[in-house]
Amino acid sequence: MKVTFLGTGTSQGIPVIGSTHPVCLSDNPKDKRLRVSVMITHNDNVYVIDCGPDFRAQMLNQNATKLDAILFTHEHADHTAGLDDIRPFFFKQGDIPIYAHQRVLKSLKRRFDYIFETENKYPGAPSVAQNIITNTSFFIADFKVTPINGMHNNLQVFGFRMEDFAYLTDMKTVADEEIEKLKNLDVLVINALREKEHISHFNLEEALAFIEKVKPKKAYLTHISHWLGFHEEVQQKLPENVYLAYDGLTINL
Ligand SMILES: [Zn+2]
Ligand SMILES: [Zn+2]
Repeated sequence: MKVTFLGTGTSQGIPVIGSTHPVCLSDNPKDKRLRVSVMITHNDNVYVIDCGPDFRAQMLNQNATKLDAILFTHEHADHTAGLDDIRPFFFKQGDIPIYAHQRVLKSLKRRFDYIFETENKYPGAPSVAQNIITNTSFFIADFKVTPINGMHNNLQVFGFRMEDFAYLTDMKTVADEEIEKLKNLDVLVINALREKEHISHFNLEEALAFIEKVKPKKAYLTHISHWLGFHEEVQQKLPENVYLAYDGLTINL
């Protein structure tokens, strides 16, 4: 199994449009962060978690030629707004399987009504195969996926465990029974927005406390704001086996 970080930035991406913040002006490619998403390759199958507004650029960056499924964490635009750009995959492969909470599917149907249209559908519009997920493990082909339930302020969000890898983003609280599902991980990915507290995202301190509880072999931080600081400086301050993710980083598991 291979995991590639397609984007590691918070909702506006880094640089933020029009910002003169030093991190937004940084020349280091690791300080440039597209909206959060990961690509998971398993037995030649390619999955992505979330499909934000940078999806097209992310697929081009990876020279992606196929897409076997999209798993959605939640409905926020930075995780869903790129859905229209599945078109090249749809033209080659047919309906693209998507996996999401019923509420997230409802939200996608409202915003991408033409994708879900069944009568007089525009021929150029893509189609998806809908799979409703609940908080129980499911299989995509022979690949077991275990949802991890969390809260993003008042909004329910799913993280996902696959084998000894788990990807959690946009979390602010995770119940102890959900943390139980994260035992014996090789790699945990968790959101860390900035140092200052935030109503719906872990800040750095909360993310590090969460890592302490879960005790994975390695942890990577994602959904990062420019307010967290320069990649190289933040990395220096992190505990052993905790890393700031960056766009394009690949992990082999
Ligand atoms: Zn987000
Ligand atoms: Zn969100």
